[in-house]
Amino acid sequence: MKLNQLTIKQAQEGLKTKKISSVELTKACLEQIKKHNPSLNAFITVCEDSALHEAEKADQQFNNLTIQQSGNSFSLLGIPIALKDLFSIKGIKTTAGSKVLENYIPPYDATVVKKLKDRGAVIIGKTNLDAWAHGSSGENSDFGPTKNPWNIDYVPGGSSSGSAAALSADMCLASTGTDTGGSIRLPASFCNVVGLKPTYGRVSRYGIIAMASSLDSIGHFTKTVEDSAILLNVTAGKDQFDATTPGVEVQNYTKNLNSGVKSIKIGVPKEYVAKGLDKNVQTKFEEAIKVLEGLGAILEEVTLPHTEYGIAVYYIIQPSEVSSNLARYDGIRYGSARENFGDEAKRRIMLGTYTLSSGYYEAYYKKAMFVRTLIKRDFDEAFKKVDAIITPVSPTPPWKLGEKINDPLKMYLSDILTVTANLAGIPGLSVPMGFASGLPVGMQILGPQFSETLLLQIGHTYEQATEWHNQNPKL
Ligand code: GLN
Repeated sequence: MKLNQLTIKQAQEGLKTKKISSVELTKACLEQIKKHNPSLNAFITVCEDSALHEAEKADQQFNNLTIQQSGNSFSLLGIPIALKDLFSIKGIKTTAGSKVLENYIPPYDATVVKKLKDRGAVIIGKTNLDAWAHGSSGENSDFGPTKNPWNIDYVPGGSSSGSAAALSADMCLASTGTDTGGSIRLPASFCNVVGLKPTYGRVSRYGIIAMASSLDSIGHFTKTVEDSAILLNVTAGKDQFDATTPGVEVQNYTKNLNSGVKSIKIGVPKEYVAKGLDKNVQTKFEEAIKVLEGLGAILEEVTLPHTEYGIAVYYIIQPSEVSSNLARYDGIRYGSARENFGDEAKRRIMLGTYTLSSGYYEAYYKKAMFVRTLIKRDFDEAFKKVDAIITPVSPTPPWKLGEKINDPLKMYLSDILTVTANLAGIPGLSVPMGFASGLPVGMQILGPQFSETLLLQIGHTYEQATEWHNQNPKL
């Protein structure tokens, strides 16, 4: 196995016992990027020099640490991680995938970035995304679309397209993302990696370029569920710079990974396996249900009756918040150039300005907020009966580049199974569920707010019983 193919857990072991060095590991990732980024376009910026420098520092630190010391407080020491280009890093260009911020260099680190750096992570580069995180396919990037490593004629899913593709192609050991309506779970599912969208407020949004502030969740992509828990242990928690991070206790997310799923009640919402679900995706999902049943979980049908309004509600609330958040790129601040806004951003700014304008506010925005509450109540009711819910992540397998780009409504519909979790503020985990029409698809595990420990436990148990996460794309 090549070093860049290691999981975080495996690399930690190798580094601690000095079987491998961070410089070797980082070089392996950089080589992979050099070889395959020209065709995949997963990175906007590669931080070659600074990454090697950080790796050298990490190796020196390992030489000064005893094995015990290199435990928790340096849990990511020497591990190469890629960041979605929406995460501010001091001194490194951060574009949000838009030409508007083509030359923007943040003067500070996002809280998550600071936490990763404090634990010794090596920042390997900034990944491509749909501009401002608007999109489901990666094609809205002003820096060209990212390609799916499993078949470069297909989309990798968006908006965190580069982070998922980079990880799937072993260009890093983990990567970060943001999920406002599915932008972590969808690309994770399309690229055969694990994606975690934590509970709203579990991870600080400070320093991450805002899309829709009441929906944005900060999460990550990993090769295994265990790695996802390791990363959440670092990123979760209250932050004085983000008032939406509550003081809810941060658990040890790796603790229950091996507790199994025996007697855990898992709901399957009947509205999610309805019309419009691709036959092959449905078959894979039914197989996943059987696997979980075989492991001792109790599966039962649940109902989320307001699901059908999810897309309509999301595409009113989300653009409303976008129109307010993007107003700061006025051509005066951030060295921004507003004439560079792309079509999708313009579409959302106009929609949002309209739905918030007097005369229409009551009819659209306010009504959408009411229905948002009903969607949240659906989940509250369901979670009285079951511990967690599973669904496919996407109603279809990955689609061809160009297939939906001229039909925004069709593109929006691909979010139908993911937006409700953001509207309700609950966590969602995407794990590889097999291949439909030869391309990866994922299973989504949802739970009540702050139930990440349970979701990771279910995800890990399913993953260990299946082979999907061990499959790699042929590059
Ligand atoms: N695809 C959705 C949108 O375009 C979600 C994007 C996201 O989660 N950032 O708004």
